[in-house]
Amino acid sequence: PLVLGFETSCDETGVGIVRGNTLLADAVASSVDEHARFGGVVPEVASRAHLEAMVPTVQRALDDAGVTLQDIDAIAVTAGPGLAGALLVGAAAAKGYALALGKPIYGVNHLAAHICVDQLEHGPLPEGCVAMLVSGGHSSLLFVPDVTEDVQPLGQTIDDAAGEAFDKVARVLGLGFPGGPLIDKAAREGDPEAIAFPRGLTGPRDAPLDFSFSGLKTSVARWVEHRERAGDKIPVADVAASFQEAVVDVLTRKAILACKERGADHLLIGGGVAANSRLRVLAEERGAKAGIQVRVPRPKLCTDNGAMVAALGSELVRRGRQPSTLDFPADSSQPVVDVVAR
Ligand code: ATP
Ligand code: MG
Ligand code: FE
Repeated sequence: PLVLGFETSCDETGVGIVRGNTLLADAVASSVDEHARFGGVVPEVASRAHLEAMVPTVQRALDDAGVTLQDIDAIAVTAGPGLAGALLVGAAAAKGYALALGKPIYGVNHLAAHICVDQLEHGPLPEGCVAMLVSGGHSSLLFVPDVTEDVQPLGQTIDDAAGEAFDKVARVLGLGFPGGPLIDKAAREGDPEAIAFPRGLTGPRDAPLDFSFSGLKTSVARWVEHRERAGDKIPVADVAASFQEAVVDVLTRKAILACKERGADHLLIGGGVAANSRLRVLAEERGAKAGIQVRVPRPKLCTDNGAMVAALGSELVRRGRQPSTLDFPADSSQPVVDVVAR
């Protein structure tokens, strides 16, 4: 089936088109530049930008795929979690297209879509894999018997998300927004062992599959403040590399542990932070050592996009899952266990 997917949970207006597991179009319009001077995403600005970008982005996706609206068999849209106003714009648009075309609509979970997108790149998800979802708002380990209806939380962050930590540390270092890609780039010139930043929740009595990044963020801020007060020059590349190493060390260690605990031989990593170059290398390295196959989509499919929503929609159609009714709600805090909005 040909599936049209909409994503508007944050600052990316994404429209993707897939046929089965084949990616035909992945059009993304970002309002990130409009938020940069505020140092974070401003919800009202994002909603407004989605409204303006929606129709042109749909047209671009159709052109890229070489199909027309009449060819579409089903529609999928992010129902949550995300910014309430931003979600509403996408849901309203998708419902409009579904109604006009007389096609089924699936209001889907953004986090499940971050996982399912890997199918477009590496084929069907292995049954019972462990997924690590690391993004701007979430950091969790999940056991995934079936991404269309059975996603089980194993652990999550007890404070900041990994992406949030990247963004905050980038701000402390004066690198700009969003911080993840900028830290990634700065870290390439730095020494990951220059500064021993703390590895949160890795003590013997800590929850083995939960994360904590708030202490690390504070520790980096303190370290930088201390040097600044002394009038020292901040070794930005070394701080970036050492911070990044602390994050990806903990992420990969716990992800492998989750695989061992669940007897899973596949680890899937998704969400914006999965675009991180060091995380990708270290996960692959540690996975290989533990006999675990690591799957990470290409960076452009890790950050928010419409193709991931279309991918999950396509899988829901293939599995014969019931579509949502047209009155399904956008839910800013939709839990990961609710794959389809009802
Ligand atoms: P969520 O998916 O939890 O709702 P979101 O949709 O805002 O949050 P994503 O777009 O999935 O988040 O991811 C954005 C986050 O990923 C940002 O925090 C950003 O800094 C981070 N990120 C993007 N690229 C990289 C990178 N190369 N290294 C580290 N972090 C990155
Ligand atoms: Mg974004
Ligand atoms: Fe996301």
